[in-house]
Amino acid sequence: MEKVNNAIRDCPNSGNRTCGCNVGGWKTVNGLVRSITCVLVIGAISLAACKDAWHPEWGPTPPVAPYSLNNLPAGRVTQPIIFPVLGETRWQDGYNEVRGKFRHTGIDIKAPKMTPIVAPFSGKLGMKKMSFWIYGDSGWTMLGTHLNDDNIGTQDGRGDHDVMFAPDLHPGQHVVAGQFIGYVGESGDATAPHLHFEMYAPGDGPTMARIRNPFDSLKAAHVIQAPIACIPSPKRKPRNGEKRFVGCVRKVDIYAGTVTMLLSASQIPNGKATVSTVPQYRKVKITQAQLRSVGGWSAIRALAPYRRISAYVPDIADQVVRPTRQFVIEAQ
Ligand SMILES: [Zn+2]
Repeated sequence: MEKVNNAIRDCPNSGNRTCGCNVGGWKTVNGLVRSITCVLVIGAISLAACKDAWHPEWGPTPPVAPYSLNNLPAGRVTQPIIFPVLGETRWQDGYNEVRGKFRHTGIDIKAPKMTPIVAPFSGKLGMKKMSFWIYGDSGWTMLGTHLNDDNIGTQDGRGDHDVMFAPDLHPGQHVVAGQFIGYVGESGDATAPHLHFEMYAPGDGPTMARIRNPFDSLKAAHVIQAPIACIPSPKRKPRNGEKRFVGCVRKVDIYAGTVTMLLSASQIPNGKATVSTVPQYRKVKITQAQLRSVGGWSAIRALAPYRRISAYVPDIADQVVRPTRQFVIEAQ
């Protein structure tokens, strides 16, 4: 939706909008059609002031969708993409529908809150509160919005980066198709949890000329069961009896000698890495020798929130573990 995208460009500060769903047959990924009842919530939804504390930049400029009642381009295209939402979803062709004073510029993929979202194709990532966009290596661009902004189990609209995006992302980085991006939500003007998904053809012209209906691409999309793991130094596997936590620093307690990591993935001795698709925090107790090897507490505290570290820990379920050998700040 254009207004959503304007909000992306300026600052989240929406008014009385609905990206509501219409009653009708909804398609699941596996082709089932079901009827659902949707309730449009009409009314003012005001968002908190712009809160982008975690990253100073958004990366590449987001595509700003047309805000107009003129028909959007109708040409159908099938681009090879990975379906951007994991698990069971419901969606229908809502592209070009009239939504108040504008045409709906994407397709709404409904899924439960906190369902993982993955990159549909590889490219350069832009991100800001509620939204992300990818300038694909193929020349195509996509944008997704309404990512989760609620603390888990609430509707408070006060959730931070850790319940919205994967922990190890930063604007401007290159992501690969299938990489974990973030969580489905109902932020902004959404009336139910969904990913609003837009696609743009290659080129520098106005978005009105480049926007495309993503329906056929979504219908033909490759469906994956779990995000593609993109861990640094994947060959630095844990030994038998160990596991490797890969994550980002969220808290440092010098007195307790602990670092709290938000996990992005874990790896087992055979090399298999599993992406963490729910926010999981792990406290790791660091020895003095390990501390010295990474440059001390000051080096850990200076890490950007998306910088990845690895801790090789005993393969036990304890909440606080001590690395068995290495504690590594990964090159970014
Ligand atoms: Zn939408």
